[in-house]
Amino acid sequence: MPYQTEWVKPDLVVAYRGVRVYHTYRYDDYNDSPRLFWFTLDPQCGEEACACQGAACQNVFDVRSLPEYAEGPVEGADSVRRAVRAFIDRHQGDLGQLRAWIRASQP
Ligand SMILES: [Zn+2]
Repeated sequence: MPYQTEWVKPDLVVAYRGVRVYHTYRYDDYNDSPRLFWFTLDPQCGEEACACQGAACQNVFDVRSLPEYAEGPVEGADSVRRAVRAFIDRHQGDLGQLRAWIRASQP
């Protein structure tokens, strides 16, 4: 019997200054738990899928790599949202700057 896989939009974590940040999922499986530390600026980019041109994804990032995350108390979803908003503030809500930082932070 055939089956089909349906694309669904990931859940929103933060909407701030015109920037939307979404959860990523293990193997991009929405039915699996969202990743605790990995997020994406683009719903088309996740753990497996990537809609970016070029080699490295410029949308998926580890919140633990943000200097803002290390500065505060690091427990729970509130500290994640606070760090993501501070990250957006640092780049004045400019998606191009946020993506450039993600690209530059990758090994
Ligand atoms: Zn990507």
